[in-house]
Amino acid sequence: MGNQNCIFCKIVAKELPASVVYEDGKCLAFLDISPANKGHVLVIPKQHYATLIEVPDSTLSELVKAAKKVSSAVLKATKAKDFNFVQSNGPVAGQVVMHVHFHIFPRFKGDGLLAGRLNRPALVYEDGEAKEFMKRIREAMKW
Ligand code: AMP
Ligand code: ZN
Repeated sequence: MGNQNCIFCKIVAKELPASVVYEDGKCLAFLDISPANKGHVLVIPKQHYATLIEVPDSTLSELVKAAKKVSSAVLKATKAKDFNFVQSNGPVAGQVVMHVHFHIFPRFKGDGLLAGRLNRPALVYEDGEAKEFMKRIREAMKW
């Protein structure tokens, strides 16, 4: 099911591959394919909602709780102390994938990001590197 034209719905339906780090009844978390920093994770509801405003409160609370657990795991897995928790609503605000999502990415001193915004090119995972980050984050989640 889900939205036919939505890449994140396709990831939920396992029609597209993703490096999944956490999943429960309502939420899915996977590595961003173009990370701001390595270990960048997106947390989404499995059900398709375009923006934050559309997400029912009960789902939202599950989503934020999952995102908090994922955040701790990202810090542990990347040995970062700080992270950004970012969310955009609508194209004018910079939302590209119209399936609501939280970005979680670790921050490192001098990483070139400006106040949690991607003002330099995204990073690229080398061969096997995404799998390694996925494994480390999963282990830190104890999932
Ligand atoms: P936003 O600009 O907030 O809509 O962010 C969308 C994010 O989705 C970007 O950071 C993309 O790198 C990421 N993205 C797009 N396609 C995929 C994919 N197939 N798997 C993982 N992340 C993706
Ligand atoms: Zn969707």
